Amino acid sequence: MAAVNGGVSFWYAAGGVPEPGPGLPGDREVDVCVVGGGYTGLWTAYYLKKADPSLRIAVLERRFCGYGASGRNGGWLYNGFAGRGAFARRYGQQRAAAMQRVMDEAVGEVVDVTVAEGVDADIVRGGVLEVARSKPQLERLRAFVEGERAYGEGRVELLSAKEATDRVQVAGTLGGSWSRYGARIQPAKLVRGLARVVRDLGVEVYEGTPVGAILPGNAHRKPRAVTPLGTVTADHVLRATEGFTAGLRGEKRTWLPMNSAMVATEPLPAGFWADAGWQGREVLGDFAHAYMYAQRTADDRIALGGRGVPYRFGSRTDSDGSTQVETVRQLRAILDRFFPAAATARIEHAWAGVLGVPRDWCATVELDRPSGLGWAGGYVGSGVTTANLAGRTLRDLVLGVETELTGLPWVGHTVRRWEPEPLRWLGVHAMYAAYHAADRQETAGRATTSPIARFADLVAGR
Ligand SMILES: Cc1cc2nc3c(=O)[nH]c(=O)nc-3n(C[C@H](O)[C@H](O)[C@H](O)COP(=O)(O)OP(=O)(O)OC[C@H]3O[C@@H](n4cnc5c(N)ncnc54)[C@H](O)[C@@H]3O)c2cc1C
Repeated sequence: MAAVNGGVSFWYAAGGVPEPGPGLPGDREVDVCVVGGGYTGLWTAYYLKKADPSLRIAVLERRFCGYGASGRNGGWLYNGFAGRGAFARRYGQQRAAAMQRVMDEAVGEVVDVTVAEGVDADIVRGGVLEVARSKPQLERLRAFVEGERAYGEGRVELLSAKEATDRVQVAGTLGGSWSRYGARIQPAKLVRGLARVVRDLGVEVYEGTPVGAILPGNAHRKPRAVTPLGTVTADHVLRATEGFTAGLRGEKRTWLPMNSAMVATEPLPAGFWADAGWQGREVLGDFAHAYMYAQRTADDRIALGGRGVPYRFGSRTDSDGSTQVETVRQLRAILDRFFPAAATARIEHAWAGVLGVPRDWCATVELDRPSGLGWAGGYVGSGVTTANLAGRTLRDLVLGVETELTGLPWVGHTVRRWEPEPLRWLGVHAMYAAYHAADRQETAGRATTSPIARFADLVAGR
């Protein structure tokens, strides 16, 4: 059904899957050890080294930088982050709004730094276009636009069906919204470019180096990252393993590894684009419960993603990005509904990746001073921009300076762990079955949001 399934992701198809660089040469002592070479780990190393070039920083990466979600995602560089509503309820609207403001700016920060550092990631700042294709979706879209006003006037525009389809001709569009805080990126180019930049700055990047355990420090010993190739001792050890975190000793129930899967079509001809529009290269999404996300790639394909089979028993994670046939079929069906003219287009690539979901669906960043351990993640699928903010926040925390960033509500936010199996598997599968059922009801003509979806939200603890 797809010419290639896996191969880490389509984003590596043109350049080939990278060979891991040199591994850890043996025991090592540094100032800061970062575990995981995705956006979180690399942005953290970047900002720390920029702030203090004398710091000795090592990044330990199990496979190669960009092996995880950072090299597989939908390329939505946008201002959404996991947990805003919960932060507003728990810490107050003002603090949630402060975080939103910083996230709005973070989109520009990523664009500016990539330009300044000479990283070409096919970035086009076309904003975020979201469409509603049923009445309940339209109701949710309007509520979303209204809700955004609490975070600043004019941040998101409500679009009529015509205004939305003038941008992108999605079949069945009833209305849309557009925000300028978004850009399309080629994810793997960004993460590989970042890896090059931090190496050039003098950060030691060790690939093919799996960390089995991160051990806390105490009054007598510094924290350590233990690998089969040696142990790295540092003043701070920072965990940046997101969806793979369950694989570390003692972290099985910290963040649930949720799958997200994508397909990419063959390049589509000029005639298709003449009808479809999409001249602005907006990143595209919808308001279904099991939502989709898409982009027009630099070489004129549609890359489209969605939840697919959501979670594997026992928090198992990954097999180099291959995904189930059923997931590919579901994504193909979405593509055909959105763009009937693409119904004969070949799916050239399908792949999947894992993202980290905390029990309360809120992202976190933290540095625990007594143990010397830090971490960031739990972005629930909105990590491309949030990882940049995490990197700058971990920098400030490690340097011990109080800044606007260290005062944001996700800093030090804690949550209970996930239930043991089989409850975890049953709960997540029930939740997604409910979201799909709610979508089916709404597509079949329900006028308002299905109560099944509200129930699923409750079960999920969102
Ligand atoms: C299919 C898909 C689509 C997505 N689309 C979007 C999107 O469009 N927009 C958006 O904002 N977010 C999206 N996301 C989420 C986003 O990609 C992630 O939140 C983000 O990339 C997380 O970056 P990270 O560095 O924290 O984790 P990762 O990129 O997963 O990096 C973690 C790294 O740690 C390494 N590692 C793991 N365990 C160990 C270990 N024990 N020892 C050493 N190294 C280890 C891994 O190999 C990996 O390279 C998507 C995710 C997926 C899977």
